[in-house]
Amino acid sequence: MVETYDVAVLGGGLVGTAIGLGLAGQGLRTAILDEGDVAHRASRGNFALVWVQSKGMGMPRYSSWTRESVRLWPDYAASLREESGIDVSLHQPGGFTLALSEGELERRAANMARLNAQPGFEHLDYEVWDRSQLRQVFPEIGPEVAGAIFCRLDGHVNSLRLFRAQHVVFARRGGAYLPNFQVQEISRLPGGGFRILSGERCIEAGQVVLAAGIGNARLAPMVGLDAPVRPLRGQALVTEKVAPFLSHPIVTLRQTDEGGVMMGDSQEEAGFDEATGLGILGAMADRAARMFPKLGQVNIVRTWSALRVMTKDGFPIYQHSEAAPGAFLTTCHSGVTLAAAHALAVAPMIAGEGLTDALDAFHPRRFHVPAAS
Ligand SMILES: Cc1cc2nc3c(=O)[nH]c(=O)nc-3n(C[C@H](O)[C@H](O)[C@H](O)COP(=O)(O)OP(=O)(O)OC[C@H]3O[C@@H](n4cnc5c(N)ncnc54)[C@H](O)[C@@H]3O)c2cc1C
Repeated sequence: MVETYDVAVLGGGLVGTAIGLGLAGQGLRTAILDEGDVAHRASRGNFALVWVQSKGMGMPRYSSWTRESVRLWPDYAASLREESGIDVSLHQPGGFTLALSEGELERRAANMARLNAQPGFEHLDYEVWDRSQLRQVFPEIGPEVAGAIFCRLDGHVNSLRLFRAQHVVFARRGGAYLPNFQVQEISRLPGGGFRILSGERCIEAGQVVLAAGIGNARLAPMVGLDAPVRPLRGQALVTEKVAPFLSHPIVTLRQTDEGGVMMGDSQEEAGFDEATGLGILGAMADRAARMFPKLGQVNIVRTWSALRVMTKDGFPIYQHSEAAPGAFLTTCHSGVTLAAAHALAVAPMIAGEGLTDALDAFHPRRFHVPAAS
């Protein structure tokens, strides 16, 4: 017996489950085929920011797309809570990027001005705060902190609960989660639709959505799609739980709703190596303790690394295959931030008329511009 579905989503990370629950919500019989716990999963090791500031240098549309998602987030979190009973602890009080010297503050302010000055860039409200303003919000900053960039659109969630909530809602909407299904082959059926194979297992679906993170690079050419993605390692640390002292997230530092303080922002070209190392971890912890000296007295309880899903230019790819209509590719770096847009905007497009012009900027044809002679 071959199981058949309206849509098969390949990959059960944050991107695949957001799109999967959106498709199931549109009334489509949807399956998520997932390689399982052996896979590299950015969704299990991220920093959980729902973040706008500093995004979109080189692609203004990425900033506005991110802002669309951030605006959708409160409704999205509410629907996840209602349908799963899980509170993902969305908190959007605005976020900061701290500078440890006057020179760093000037550089960061200049970068924000350049970002905003790009042709076609929807104006982004941000503020440059000096040390005395910052001390009103964070009385415990260290002596080196010169100031910060503040953007009131920024926030964070509990990312593991988000991942869990998306799975629960997908199942409650009648979706079929098929774990340990490592897709090896996708082929087109003569009468339309797709056959998807994993060893002896086979399913058929009218549409297929590739949402396999780094795994998309291998799967995309099977259906005429183009996914130049590579792993980019990120390391993180979390401290023991401490009394609340960080009311807002900082791009490299945030206090979770459970009390632990997460630190981390490394971006390392390390292939598929998921090792952690004291060099990078130490540098991140040192910078955090310079921002908030009290962190020097707090124990680190866990460190980890995970592989970011990185395209050539760092921006998302959304593509509908011309060679194999009905096959879609969805991949991005910031799958937490974009989860609301994936569930509430991209999934309805896939369920309806296909990707609209609103996503045109994210087509991978941007990687194939011929060099000037
Ligand atoms: C250190 C770090 C910090 C981050 N911080 C943030 C942040 O603050 N904010 C933010 O928005 N984003 C952040 N991200 C990014 C975010 O975690 C990712 O965008 C998101 O997890 C990507 O989800 P994904 O579903 O595309 O990929 P993954 O989570 O990697 O999931 C891919 C899934 O595809 C499956 N798969 C792969 N190949 C196959 C196959 N052949 N067949 C079937 N299934 C397959 C795997 O089993 C896996 O479940 C961070 C990432 C890292 C690593």
